[in-house]
Amino acid sequence: MNFKVANNIEKLKILHSIIKRYSSQFSNNSFDVVVVGGGIIGCATARALLIENRNLRVGLVEKENKLSFHQSGHNSGVIHAGIYYKPGSLRAKLCIKGLQMTYDYCNKKNIPYKKCGKLIVATNENEIKRLIDLYERGMQNSTPDIKLLDEHEIKTIEPHCKGLNAIYSPHTGIVDWATVTQNYAADFKHMGGKIFYDFKVESFNENKNGRALKLRAKNNEVVITDYVITCGGLQSDKLSIMTGCKDEPYILPVRGEYLLLKSDKSYLVKGNIYPVPNPDLPFLGVHFTPRMDGSVFLGPNAVLALKQEGYKWNDISIGNTLRVLKKKGVRKLLKNNIQFGINEILKSIYLSKQLRELQNYIPNIQLNDIIRGPSGVRAQPLWSNGKMVEDLVLDCASNDPNESVKYRVLHCRSAPSPSATSSLPIADIIVDKMFKKYPKLKL
Ligand SMILES: Cc1cc2nc3c(=O)[nH]c(=O)nc-3n(C[C@H](O)[C@H](O)[C@H](O)COP(=O)(O)OP(=O)(O)OC[C@H]3O[C@@H](n4cnc5c(N)ncnc54)[C@H](O)[C@@H]3O)c2cc1C
Repeated sequence: MNFKVANNIEKLKILHSIIKRYSSQFSNNSFDVVVVGGGIIGCATARALLIENRNLRVGLVEKENKLSFHQSGHNSGVIHAGIYYKPGSLRAKLCIKGLQMTYDYCNKKNIPYKKCGKLIVATNENEIKRLIDLYERGMQNSTPDIKLLDEHEIKTIEPHCKGLNAIYSPHTGIVDWATVTQNYAADFKHMGGKIFYDFKVESFNENKNGRALKLRAKNNEVVITDYVITCGGLQSDKLSIMTGCKDEPYILPVRGEYLLLKSDKSYLVKGNIYPVPNPDLPFLGVHFTPRMDGSVFLGPNAVLALKQEGYKWNDISIGNTLRVLKKKGVRKLLKNNIQFGINEILKSIYLSKQLRELQNYIPNIQLNDIIRGPSGVRAQPLWSNGKMVEDLVLDCASNDPNESVKYRVLHCRSAPSPSATSSLPIADIIVDKMFKKYPKLKL
């Protein structure tokens, strides 16, 4: 080969590499930040990133073919008012903030909601002391306008409900959280964000130059990004493990099965009616929840799902169940709550058992007024000692830029209920953390 040809080949190679670099930098699959997970937290976070800096290139990848496929589309649809949570905790503060932000956002976007209020009802003497403690907790949390009612006052709010005393929360409401998620996603796309569906992230690798990450999907599609935020809900522990991060808190999938009140009996329930919760459990107990479509949900119960996204009893993944049961903490938790667990399984099998609980509040409900309804699976995070995680946990896995993958990822490890209500302030916290850790995102 003469010198002139060799020289031209060299020039072509350089040109090729410049074009490649240019096209990868500005191609549709190259981003400053990619958010993994198209639930309410992922969509709120992607939106908040662009609100803070419109110049960022932000992508969102979701493994299903639509948004809010899991928890964000399978829940009670309540806008909570922050009564239950430990005073001073992030969970309490975020809920109160989220309550107002949700109403403001729904008003701005014309998203339908109903501020139908809520009663937490004590039906026997033993529950009254716990109800008063709960009321004091609500006051400490600054839950707006709550008051204690006697049995006659209960009837003025819910004529068919029986109880001795109740806490009344007039600002608790209902909304379709999947619609709220859609709206966050529409804002995100409007500001230039891009959403990839059917993109199940299977690996996070350092990109060739070591200055970015490559996320590969199950179908081999690839996105390149400087930084990643994972909001994987039920899969948040698996996503963390994929990036080399620790496996705890790990996720226990807990299925909540709802019953439906037949439409000709919907008049029995005006607003939300809740029991006084057992303070040792993270569930609020079987409640009556009116829905935006006019139906009324009863429940849910709480049974261990045999698959991470196991909506039915026959959704079983032996591998996943063994992975979960292998954890000492899970076994300890199950052992300590064996009676509760058995009771919840019996309630799942025999509707009459669940009915008896419901009749404590609305005695007029009969077995032929209820049918089986949908279910949702809750991501219950656990520490390895079996203690339930009660608050938001964000994991910036490493501050060492040499640990390229870990350094570039922020995991949302735990966003416990009511994180649909708290989604807007949670997103602000996540974005604030990202901007503090990677100041170049602010520019
Ligand atoms: C039964 C039930 C009732 C509830 N009731 C209420 C209520 O009334 N009010 C309230 O405020 N909150 C309620 N909650 C809580 C609330 O619904 C959740 O906290 C919230 O929806 C969590 O949102 P998320 O975005 O973290 O998770 P999710 O909605 O589960 O989203 C996670 C997303 O990540 C995706 N994903 C996972 N792995 C990957 C991967 N490898 N690649 C790409 N994508 C991936 C999933 O497909 C999913 O779409 C309830 C929850 C349940 C289960």
